[in-house]
Amino acid sequence: EAKKRGRGRYQLFSDTMDDIVKQRQSVEADLRKALASGGELELVYQPLHSAEGVLTGVEALLRWNHPVHRSISPSFLITIAEECGLIAQIGDWVLDEACRTATRIPVPWIAVNVSPVQLRDRNFANRCLGIIAQHNIDPRRIQVEITEAVVIDDPEIAGATLRQLRAAGVRVALDDFGTGYSSMSYLRDYPLDRLKIDRFFVQALCEGEEGRAIVAAVIEMARALKLEVTAEGVETAEQHAMLRDMGCNEMQGYLFSRPLTAAVLAERFFPTNAEQRA
Ligand code: C2E
Ligand code: MG
Ligand code: MG
Ligand code: MG
Repeated sequence: EAKKRGRGRYQLFSDTMDDIVKQRQSVEADLRKALASGGELELVYQPLHSAEGVLTGVEALLRWNHPVHRSISPSFLITIAEECGLIAQIGDWVLDEACRTATRIPVPWIAVNVSPVQLRDRNFANRCLGIIAQHNIDPRRIQVEITEAVVIDDPEIAGATLRQLRAAGVRVALDDFGTGYSSMSYLRDYPLDRLKIDRFFVQALCEGEEGRAIVAAVIEMARALKLEVTAEGVETAEQHAMLRDMGCNEMQGYLFSRPLTAAVLAERFFPTNAEQRA
């Protein structure tokens, strides 16, 4: 079973703790090398669209092209990086690379995912703003995606950090909304610009009245709180139509596009710009 799922990936082939530990250590060592050389890490960009289909921005997603294991799932990679203390360095690399892309491709904005561990660093906002300033781009073109875990973890520090980022123009999105254990009460006061409704709820849309009611309620709540709302994981025309009719103003998913390399993103959405650079 594990073999079928995990060909070319790190999987727990064996049950022994010893193997698991060894496997983690080898991933960690490889990750340190990859960060030092930079060559194996890559960002791909998934377009977000308005309900009418216009490109609004892109989300940067990390890929690790490991020489032996080829593509390793980003969730696994991020977990390892959090555990072995490499997440801050990875986060810096991701933001730096996203800013570089923003200087080359006139995409309205780029969203980067931020781990709760990164937000525990009191200096996080300064680091981010420093990187953005180095590239001389408008901070409003950068968005950070946080998860509900951030809010539960340490609402005070994270809140102050996010307020500092927003004061400089950086936008803040709450990712995978609805999957965490946070309460609704924080939403009113928390420094947010956008809610991203998790794919799980989008999938449930066409499975019955309850699924529809939940998504409709979230969209309504976001509107009341003056937050933008994005639906994640939109895969079918039916989901798209339902979300549009409910007033969801932004969508992301395989129906519109898979994540793209920077080169393909430029070609597909900004062909004249790509020609000029060639
Ligand atoms: P996420 O931030 O919620 O990103 C969306 C994930 O859903 C991506 O998976 C994307 O490829 C996938 N996706 C997009 N549209 C569809 C769809 O229509 N159907 C389905 N089934 N999936 C879709 P990916 O790239 O594997 O990333 C997984 C998670 O890893 C991300 O979830 C995010 O939490 C984390 N991640 C990725 N890159 C980074 C990074 O640079 N930093 C941090 N801290 N986390 C990252
Ligand atoms: Mg995300
Ligand atoms: Mg998400
Ligand atoms: Mg998600």
